[in-house]
Amino acid sequence: MSQPWALQTPEQHERHRLATKKYNDSHKAERRAYYDANKASISAYWKKHYEEHGPRISPEGRRRWWRANPDKNTAAVQRRRARIQASPVLERFTRHEIYVRDGGICQICRQPVTEKASVQDHIYPLSRGGEHTRANIQLACRSCNSHKRDKLPEELVA
Ligand SMILES: [Zn+2]
Repeated sequence: MSQPWALQTPEQHERHRLATKKYNDSHKAERRAYYDANKASISAYWKKHYEEHGPRISPEGRRRWWRANPDKNTAAVQRRRARIQASPVLERFTRHEIYVRDGGICQICRQPVTEKASVQDHIYPLSRGGEHTRANIQLACRSCNSHKRDKLPEELVA
């Protein structure tokens, strides 16, 4: 691989993915034996790797993917809008209003977040019957919001 995955074109990425898969499939037994013999050091390596580099997809990589797939982006925005419209009770408010109310602090991790990087998190997710109201909205940073997904508050504690 000549350049980091994040800098590859989609075609380069796909070619690399297929080549890796072909190699892995044709060396299954060897790879299995190597893994069994080195389990502890392999998991330690990846644990350290995760601590140093974080999750595999960078925010920039994610943005690139959305930019490269505008139709999927539009569809996702429409799905989200439809979920909000389907809310049993619907209030109109701005992101700025919620940002000011919550003092610029992510209500999940309690860390300051810039207004631009903040998101409106539905405490009770829309997909689980939550309402699009001020009372059900909290300020969150993107990583907390994406980690939380559609969990209920009580499921987060567990
Ligand atoms: Zn947070």
